Formats: sequence, C-alpha cells, structure tokens
Amino acid sequence: MHEMGIVDGVLSTVRATVQHEGATRAVGVTLRIGDMTEVVRESLDFAWEVLREEDPQTAACELTVEEVHPHSVCRACGNEFDHDVRHLRCPACGSGDTRLVHGRDLDIVSVEIETPD
Ligand SMILES: [Zn+2]
Repeated sequence: MHEMGIVDGVLSTVRATVQHEGATRAVGVTLRIGDMTEVVRESLDFAWEVLREEDPQTAACELTVEEVHPHSVCRACGNEFDHDVRHLRCPACGSGDTRLVHGRDLDIVSVEIETPD
C-alpha cells in the first residue's frame, strides 16, 4: 500500500523534528496533499493509526490533511485554470499542452511538538 510508505516517511521527519528540537513528543502534523497524487484518504488514516503507535514520540500525534486541487497553466495561451483529475485541457483554447502547477503536492506544512517544562 502506497500510503504506508508515505506515512512512514512523514513519521521519520516528525521524529527527526522532535529530536532536533529537544522535544518530548509530537502532538500534531499537517500535510498538504494534491488530488493528483491519488492518495486514498481512508488508507492514509489507517496507515497513520497503525504506524504512529510504533514510537512513543508519535503515538499521540494527530494528522491533519489539507487537500490541494489541481491547477494548471496552458502553454498555448497562458491561461491558468483549476480542474479536476481527469480534465487537463485548457478551458479557454482547448489545448492539451498544459503544465500542472499544483496538484502533485505532498508536503509537510507543520509539525507541532511538546517541549519539556
Ligand atoms: Zn489555452
């Protein structure tokens, strides 16, 4: 499952942040995920619930996901447009020569940590 690998990578970054900041544990992480990545939200949440338990530093860490809808620019006429995952043609001129600007994002926006008093 593709989502297991994603969650594993995110948790490594979260653990590294906790250690780097001298924190006790992470309490929240926000991800930005593009629609074009085809990440299945249910699978992601499941992988998160399972894998975060493996380390006390991440066991109580809540996952928040910001969805990013696809946005492209047309190489033929320069039009910028939002679209869904199946409609990539430029609505202004009908060209299929477009470049995706947003939609394949898979970024960690922020990690919330708890520091010792
Ligand atoms: Zn166009």
